[in-house]
Amino acid sequence: MSDTPRSHGRKSIAASLQPQELMSHAPRLAQAWTAQVITLLPDAFPGVLGESLTGRALKGGLWQLDAVDLRPFGEGRHRNVDDTPAGGGAGMVLRADVMGRALDHARARMPDAAPILYLSPRGRRFDQAMARRLSRGPGATLICGRFEGMDERVIDHYGIEEVSLGDFVLTGGEIAAQALIDATVRLIPRVLGNQASTEEESFSDGLLEHPQYTRPAVWKGLPIPEILLSGHHGNITTWRRRQAERLTKERRPDLWRAYCAAHGRDPDEDQEL
Ligand code: SAH
Repeated sequence: MSDTPRSHGRKSIAASLQPQELMSHAPRLAQAWTAQVITLLPDAFPGVLGESLTGRALKGGLWQLDAVDLRPFGEGRHRNVDDTPAGGGAGMVLRADVMGRALDHARARMPDAAPILYLSPRGRRFDQAMARRLSRGPGATLICGRFEGMDERVIDHYGIEEVSLGDFVLTGGEIAAQALIDATVRLIPRVLGNQASTEEESFSDGLLEHPQYTRPAVWKGLPIPEILLSGHHGNITTWRRRQAERLTKERRPDLWRAYCAAHGRDPDEDQEL
C-alpha cells in the first residue's frame, strides 16, 4: 500500500457567498460518494457510520458526509424551525421557508444528479435495489424530519422522493438516514474488504441467505452440517442454494414468487428443498 491518501488530489474548492456560520466543516472530495444530511441533530453524525468498515472508508475518503444543521436557517432570534399544524392538531411541523433555505444552501454543493430524499414513514420502502442504485450515483441529500414531519409544500416544490425504512414510526429521520447510508456505502467498491460478500448475501440474487456456521465444530451437542466440512465445493454450493431457496419459500413468499418468475420456475413446485 502507498502512503498517499485515497483522497489525494480530489479536494475541490468553490467560492461561496454564504456566511461562515452556515458553512459545513466537512472537507469536500470532488468525486467521493456524498451523503448530505439536513438535520436538527448534526452531532448524531457520523454516529455508528464512523465505526468499523464504514468509518474506515469515511476516513479513507471513499465516501464523505456533509451534515447540515437546520437550526441556523431558523426564523428570528431563536432560530425557530417549526410551528403548529395548519388546521389544528397535535405536535409541530417543520417550516417550509426554513427547510427551503437549508435545501438551497445545501444543494449548491451537490451535483444535480444526486436525488433529494425525505425519510418518511409514508415513503416507498427502502430496499437493496435502491441501495444499489444510489451507490452507483454521486450521492444523495437526505432530509431528516422531526416532530410531525415537514410542510408538504417543500416535497412538492423540489420534487422530493419519500423513502421509508418500514411500517413503524421513529421520532426522527436520523436513524433511518444512517441505515440508508450504511446499506448504500457498503456497496461502494473497496468499502468492504471482500466485495464478493455483497454478491452472495441476502437479496443480492433475490433470495435470503443460507445459514452460516463457524467453529467450534460441535457446540452444545449441535454439529455443523457435515457437508460444509466435506471440502467438496460443488456439493456445498448446491446445499447452500437449496437452503437459501427453502428459507425464502418459508419466510418470504413474496420474494420467492418474484425469484421463480425471474428464473422461469413454478413457485408451487414440490421439489426436495
Ligand atoms: N407524523 C408523521 C410521522 C412523523 S415521525 C406520520 O404520521 O407520517 C418524525 C420523523 O421521523 C419523520 O418526519 C421522518 O423523517 C422520521 N421517520 C419516522 N418513521 C420513519 C420511517 N419508518 N422511515 C423513515 N423515516 C421515518
